[in-house]
Amino acid sequence: MSRADRYTIETLGVPSLNLMERAAEGCVQVMTEKNLDLSAPCVVCGSGNNGGDGFAIARILLKQGYQPVVCMVGNKDHCSKETETQMTALTDRGVRILDGYVPGKYSIVIDAVFGVGLNREITGTYQDVIRQMNASSGLKFAVDVPSGISADSGTVLGTAFRADITVTFQKKKTGLMLSPGRSYAGSVIPWKIGISTDPVCHEGIYLMDRKDYQAMLPVRSEDSHKGTFGKLLIIAGSKGMSGAAYLNAMAAYLTGAGLVQIYTEETNREILQTLAPEAIVSTYRSYEQQKLLELLSWADAVCIGSGIGTSEVSAKILKSTLEKGKGPFVIDADGLNLLAEHPEYQEFLAGKTAILTPHMKEMSRLLGSSISELQKNRVDVLRSFTENHAVTCILKDARTLIGIPGFGLVLNTTGNAAMAKGGSGDVLAGILAGLLVQQKDSKSAACLGTYLHGRCGDLAREEKGPYSVLARDLLEHIGPAFGELIE
Ligand code: ADP
Ligand code: ADP
Ligand code: MG
Repeated sequence: MSRADRYTIETLGVPSLNLMERAAEGCVQVMTEKNLDLSAPCVVCGSGNNGGDGFAIARILLKQGYQPVVCMVGNKDHCSKETETQMTALTDRGVRILDGYVPGKYSIVIDAVFGVGLNREITGTYQDVIRQMNASSGLKFAVDVPSGISADSGTVLGTAFRADITVTFQKKKTGLMLSPGRSYAGSVIPWKIGISTDPVCHEGIYLMDRKDYQAMLPVRSEDSHKGTFGKLLIIAGSKGMSGAAYLNAMAAYLTGAGLVQIYTEETNREILQTLAPEAIVSTYRSYEQQKLLELLSWADAVCIGSGIGTSEVSAKILKSTLEKGKGPFVIDADGLNLLAEHPEYQEFLAGKTAILTPHMKEMSRLLGSSISELQKNRVDVLRSFTENHAVTCILKDARTLIGIPGFGLVLNTTGNAAMAKGGSGDVLAGILAGLLVQQKDSKSAACLGTYLHGRCGDLAREEKGPYSVLARDLLEHIGPAFGELIE
């Protein structure tokens, strides 16, 4: 049982049979409202509370004149009390409960095998059953969570039901928004059943709405000048990687930064002055401590890492920047890879403001763990990483999670697969730095920046389609993405 269920049942005194009834009524109501074909329904139930929801669905369908086939997988003797009550209510009405899943020509297959309680890999008979259910030609309907998907992390535990539609109780579970759970859930319909939504019950993961983002917008007063909006130093782009510096710099300017200076490898000078004429371009051939210190004292914020490579010169630049710079910092890409190689540099961040932007692989390097381990535990891992290091960490993926020290986790829901291309992350780093240099608040910069970046991807996809969005197309949509919030 989830913490929210328990809170509702134990603290608020709502009996759990009552919740089951409301859950089942919700499912059947959605089925009828959506005109789903109920001519030959099959309900597959497990022995836990999710199974209880399934038996209740079968009873309601029967009452409405449909003829459900009811299958039970799992041990009848291990049923929860409520599920047993639901089974009895059904057999009392003359329904035979079949032992195991019996394949047939069903118009709809209703999955009530496992719900939020699933806590280990699905194996053996259960695995066979789920595969057979997936092979059915009927519409696939999941009750609360597709069986096999972790409601918290969205990972597939062994194997999982591929739903066309999932009716989830109370509010969308995190695992239905994160990949791959998101694609297993089909279209997700939240259904309120009276479980308390007290935030303490939801493991401290927050979703932000339009008003939240509006409140985070930097103020742009009439009597301002470029100095008002901060001087941003971008340390990006090694030999052959000028694009990263270009994307960082333009994204920062388009987000509102007052003055942007790029510090990059000498060979990038000309191309960057052509591509980003609004930016000041300073260059290095080798490590120059004095020059770097001057730049750091000039800057109000620093964005470091995109495309800098992991050479010795880059490592020295990163070390001095974190050690001598006052911040705030955005640390991206090779900045993170170097940080993983030299964990001792992390100490320089103590007492300073920083936003780290690792994708899953970069995060796994920082942690010294595998990507698959991280996928399983990303919520807990991110939470402890942000608290232990006292930095804001944006864990980028198809669904990005933001860890904010002293606050909790925020799930971003903008963005799409058209953005799965080289350079998208460089644009994000630039947007974040552009926000951070205007107002030094890393929580607002991280949440608003990630949101805007995703909206840029969504707007760019509307224009260019799912295949042809380039990272530089995201730049053009920064203005319109702001515009949606200002309207
Ligand atoms: P890059 O400099 O291009 O980011 P990396 O070696 O750091 O190169 O990582 C790139 C690889 O990391 C990708 O080819 C991909 O396989 C893996 N990767 C990136 N993001 C994810 C993700 N969200 N989930 C799993 N793997 C990922
Ligand atoms: P690069 O280093 O090439 O600029 P990154 O891997 O650092 O790219 O960043 C990729 C960006 O694109 C991240 O913000 C990530 O969240 C976003 N992104 C990638 N794939 C998807 C996807 N399938 N759906 C939504 N966003 C995605
Ligand atoms: Mg990147």
